[in-house]
Amino acid sequence: MSLFDRAVIKVHIRSNWPKWIVIHTAAADRLGVTIEDIDYWHRQLGWAGCGYHVVIEDDGAIRAGRSYDRRGAHARGMNHKSIGICMTGHGDVRDFNPAQYDALFPLLEQLCRRFNIPVDHVIGHREIKALAGAPDPHKSCPGNKVVMKALRNALRQEINDAV
Ligand SMILES: [Zn+2]
Repeated sequence: MSLFDRAVIKVHIRSNWPKWIVIHTAAADRLGVTIEDIDYWHRQLGWAGCGYHVVIEDDGAIRAGRSYDRRGAHARGMNHKSIGICMTGHGDVRDFNPAQYDALFPLLEQLCRRFNIPVDHVIGHREIKALAGAPDPHKSCPGNKVVMKALRNALRQEINDAV
């Protein structure tokens, strides 16, 4: 194998071609979690920093993690073809904040357009296994309080309204 081939493979395995958007919860027991906290947690796991592409904090601040063309570390089997968005808070305890939704919807709309991602490809982490035909009842991410179907319907509405 030539050095060029090796370089191409290296780029390839670090790259991301987004066809899906996967929503997560930080599932933190406390309020006020930041992207810096998540970056620290993921480094503790031996990862190259925050595994998400975006973190939306409690107050709706959109914080940039990995660049979109870089492979994430957030959803097994999907990391080479998805954008990972983490919402701080704990989705099993309460739904995302209104401020977080206010930030999330325009971002999703923008990303769906930019990468030509259909609304049906905006999914919760817990939905990945079901796509493969084997739903995992133990995985709740982005949280039991978060209704992904309603989120997609609202997003669809927003995108249609903007046309
Ligand atoms: Zn998750």
